[in-house]
Parts: sequence; structure tokens; C-alpha cells
Amino acid sequence: MDYPDHFDVIVIGGGHAGTEAALASARTGAKTLLLTHNIETLGQMSCNPAIGGIGKSHLVKEIDALDGAMALATDRGGIQFRVLNARKGPAVRATRAQADRVLYKAAIRSILENQPNLQIFQQAADDLIVDGDTVKGVVTQTGIRFQARSVVLTAGTFLGGVIHVGLDHHAGGRAGDPPSIRLAERLRELPLRVDRLKTGTPPRIDARSVDFSVMQAQPGDTPTPVMSFMGNQSDHPQQVNCFITHTNARTHDIIREGLDRSPMYTGVIEGIGPRYCPSIEDKINRFADKDQHQVFVEPEGLTTHELYPNGISTSLPFDVQMALVRSIRGFEQAHITRPGYAIEYDFFNPQDLRHTLETRHIQGLYFAGQINGTTGYEEAGAQGLLAGYNAAARALERDTWYPRRDEGYIGVMVDDLITHGTSEPYRMFTSRAEYRLILREDNADLRLTEKGRALGLVGDARWARFEAKREAMEQELQRLKNTWVHPQTPEAEQLGTRLKTPLNREYNLADLIKRPELNYQDVAGLKGEPIEDIQAAEQVEIQLKYSGYIERQKTEIEQMRRQESTRLPEDFDYDQVSGLSNELRLKLSQQRPETLAQASRIQGMTPAAISLLLVYLKKRQ
Ligand code: FAD
Repeated sequence: MDYPDHFDVIVIGGGHAGTEAALASARTGAKTLLLTHNIETLGQMSCNPAIGGIGKSHLVKEIDALDGAMALATDRGGIQFRVLNARKGPAVRATRAQADRVLYKAAIRSILENQPNLQIFQQAADDLIVDGDTVKGVVTQTGIRFQARSVVLTAGTFLGGVIHVGLDHHAGGRAGDPPSIRLAERLRELPLRVDRLKTGTPPRIDARSVDFSVMQAQPGDTPTPVMSFMGNQSDHPQQVNCFITHTNARTHDIIREGLDRSPMYTGVIEGIGPRYCPSIEDKINRFADKDQHQVFVEPEGLTTHELYPNGISTSLPFDVQMALVRSIRGFEQAHITRPGYAIEYDFFNPQDLRHTLETRHIQGLYFAGQINGTTGYEEAGAQGLLAGYNAAARALERDTWYPRRDEGYIGVMVDDLITHGTSEPYRMFTSRAEYRLILREDNADLRLTEKGRALGLVGDARWARFEAKREAMEQELQRLKNTWVHPQTPEAEQLGTRLKTPLNREYNLADLIKRPELNYQDVAGLKGEPIEDIQAAEQVEIQLKYSGYIERQKTEIEQMRRQESTRLPEDFDYDQVSGLSNELRLKLSQQRPETLAQASRIQGMTPAAISLLLVYLKKRQ
């Protein structure tokens, strides 16, 4: 049957990409349908119940700055929060939260169910309605035809999914869920480059069978950090400890002896796995000289005994899993509640996408999440938000948008994927961003919220809070610059021995904060009242302390922007550019960069080749 209502946007898949996509589209004002296998699994964490970490928290906070759901749900579901790299500079600091998977899922579902313009429908999408080179809608498993102006596909690990435990394998989207076979077959008929990747997960363990007394407890930070710019510690449920134990020589022997029944080492799995989240069998093989590996023992929630042993992801046969788990200190009596497994799935070459995440060959069809070759909830959520916004913008005939590399980690990720493609699951790191000092997790709102508001993504509550923070910061910066401390006064005395060199002239408070030995808390109250808004105070301190570096990076960004604004026409005939090497001609013709800056990031590109392109472009005008 034809569904009677038409939609602006249909999002297929209710995982991390799909939920952010549906919410972003609906926030923008588009009439949106979220079509997913199972309403009970909306926002389900397929693997580790944790959000954030190095590079990833930057993405979560950018989603948050654009009024997405991930950080808000983390604050409502987080049971252990830590700031990683706390002693390093602010560019690489990262917030990480262990989540109660039930609370997290409930928070996502509640946000979805309360979103105006958004409807949810439970059923598998089996086919796309494509007219010429334009998508027009989706057909479900039972033949319901939904019409829409744009479609966002976020099918995660489900397309052609095959689950492996040892040499046994069966079709599945993730443990307990069906795969998407019909849709995968249909997509293979479209002019899209498709390949296989794999990922894996560890066995889960019953906490009642574990001896925590021989493990190192790892409490969260105090005061408890928050993930969202809108978050409060009072949003958090009860906080609990994680624990640390280690594999040992015996564990490694057990694994080596089981490799002849490993799907990875007998060639049964062909897809490439995540380099930075390797299975334990991979680690033993790659780091053969190491006699132990860390295992983080993480609770899956407050109302379950299940534990996630982070670090021993495996697809070895179950008997080997049992033996290896029980060889680990504290796990001698462990009961496994769910076996570990690996999953192979279809992904699409992201070089076939535009920066808006629209496919180049099918108009109105957008891809986001794991199907673009990435791994991780945060990477998926960030792409979902971008694809959801652009799908809505296309349907509503508004301007499309994507952040540049100097505006957000979302921009870095999408540009990396589109420019270079990926042959292994792509995850975010701070080292992928060239403008790290500008792209901090703490200032994601200052970078993106105003833009999000202009696009219609940011609601009134967040906007009001953001404006208040920005005003508090500006006023405080002025106050600090205009408040002076003179030598040998009571205020100077208060700084006492904390000063490396005594004050020999008058200083304003801003200059004092710039001194390495002092911080905002030491100085701001010397004269007048420090501000109460902790986030605003943190920004004031970082902006003052790193002002020299930040200014330098801004100059570099200005230079890059000039190249970014030089667009390369889609029909650019690179064969006509004399002087270009055949290799570069081929790469440019295949990758079709949208701007001169993107061309400059293609591997092997030289400044001389960029000049040739510029000269040719000028001649064409
Ligand atoms: P998913 O979260 O997979 O969501 C896909 C959604 O689409 C699901 O709701 C599904 O039901 C729905 N769907 C699919 N097909 C259809 C259809 N035809 N019709 C309707 N609905 C459909 N990430 C890491 O960072 N590190 C890891 O170590 C790691 N290990 C993993 C291990 C396993 C076994 C699995 C399954 C995943 C692992 N992940 C890991 C990946 C992480 O789960 C994903 O990166 C993340 O969930 C991707 O989000 P997504 O929204 O793209 O897809």
C-alpha cells in the first residue's frame, strides 16, 4: 500500500546515526519519519556502553553544540565520568562516560518521542524507490510505500551482516537482531562502490562470579564532569567504579593455541577490522613481545550484573573464550553471559559522497554512520546530525551546510572520509585535526551553536543558555583587563609565594592569569567577584593562557580559507591542465574534489600542482 502521508525526510535505522539524523531533520522543521527494525532498540549500544574518550568527546560536544541528543542522554545515563588527559593541554582533554545502557536508551527514546515533526515506525526497509537518479521513498518489508523528498540511510552493521564465533557463522545485524539482506542486495544494484569491513565485541561476564578484591578500582572524577553544555551533575544517576585487571602469559598461550579455529586467522573473515580497537587475538599477534594487556572491567548498568571486559574483544570459539577469560586474575570463576563475536558487514566507499553526505550518484539519498566505513557511536551520531540537517535542507529548499576542517571535528571526519576514503574502520583522534588548539571539546558551543541557531537546529533553551555564557565571558574578560594589581599592595601579597617572580610593576588580572604558575581561581577574586558560571570561567582562562598560540592558528586558518573558497567545477576536465602528472590527473578525476583546499589534501598533491590548477581556473573564467 501507499502510505497516505508524504514526508520531507525518511531516516532508515534507529541507531546512533539514525536518531541524530531524525532529530536534526525534525528540529530543522522537516516532516520526518524514523523507520527502524525495532522501537525497543532505538539508541542501542551494540558494543561498549561508553560515550566519549580521546577525539570522540569532541564529536559528542559538537553534536551537543548543535542541540543533538547524545551528550544529554549521556548525562542522564552516565554512571562513571572521567576527564582523560587532564594534565595535558586543553586541546587533547577528553571527557569519557561509562553509561548504564538501559538508562541511555531510555533517554534517547524519550528525546525522540518528544520531538515535534518526528514520527517513528517499526519495520524493516527492504527497498528504495528510485526514479532515474533521484530517490523518492522507501518500501518496507510488508510492502508499505513511504514517499519522501530525501532519504537518510543509517543501517549500521546490518547490511549483509554475518556473525562469527569461531568457525561457526550465521546471518545477523548484531547479536539478537536480524540482518538487512534485501536492502543490501538492492543497494548493490545501485552505482555505489561497496566492500566489507568487520568489527568485534568481547564476551560479557556476570559480576557475581568475579573477584573484584584482586583488581584495581577506578573511580570516576570528583567533581563529576558533565558531557552536555546544558548538563548538570544533578542529572547523573548513582556513580560506580570501574576496575582494571590484566591478561597474562597463560592467557596468551590459550589464545595462540586457539588460532587454528579463529575465523580471522583461517581466512573465513575477509573484512578488515578496527586498527585501534583490535581483538585480543590481534593484539597477541601484533604485539608478540608484550606479556600482558590491560582489561578494563566496566559495569553495563546499575540494574544488571553484566560486565563489559574492555580489551578482550574476540571471535575465537566459545571453549577458547571460556578458557582465556578464566585465566585472567579475578575472572577464575567467571560465568560468561554472552559470547564474544565478530561481525562482517557491507560499507560504501565514502568517496562517493558529497560533504553534505548526499551520495553523488543518487540525488536525495544520504548515508551516515557505520555504512560510511566509520566505527563508533560518536562518529555515527555526528554524521547522522549532518546528513539529517542536509536531507531536511534539500527537502525544504534551504541552504545545505557542512563544517570546514577548522570549524569542527565533524568537518575533519567528513573531509577525511571523502578525500581519502577508508580501507579500515575509521575512528576519530585528536591527531587527525590540524587546528587542534582551536577545535577543543570545551569550546564546541562557541564554535558551532550560533551557526546551529541560524540553521534552525538549536532550540530556545540552549540558545538562551549559550548567550548568557557568552555574555558572562565577554564581561569577565573586560573586567580582568581593566582591573589592576600594584606591587606591595595586599592583593599582591595574597599571591605570595605562588609567584615565580615578584610583581615589579602594576599588572592587570588578565596578564596575571597568563603566567604559567597562576590560574583563574588564583587571580579572579583578588579584586572584585569571580564569575559563578564554571564553563565561562574555564573559557576565559583558556583564551587568556593560550592567546598567542590561538592567534597563530587563526592566521593559518585564514590562509587555508582562501583555498577553501575556491571551488572546482564538477565537470572540471583535468586532462586539459597541462603540467599535471598522470597520477595526479587520475586521482583528481576519480576523487573530484569540491574545493582547491580539498584537492590540496589528496595524497601526493604538490604546491606546484595546486598552482597549475589555479592558473587553469583563472583562464577558464
Ligand atoms: P547501528 O548503531 O548499528 O544502528 C543501525 C540501526 O539501523 C539499527 O537500529 C537497526 O535495527 C537499523 N536498521 C538496519 N537496517 C535496517 C533496515 N533495513 N530497516 C530498518 N532499520 C534498519 N564501535 C567502536 O567504536 N568500537 C568497537 O569496538 C565496536 N565494536 C562493535 C562490535 C560489534 C559486534 C558491533 C555490532 C558494533 C561495534 N561497534 C564498535 C560499532 C558501533 O556499534 C557502531 O559504530 C555504531 O553503533 C554505529 O552506529 P550506526 O547508527 O551507524 O549503526
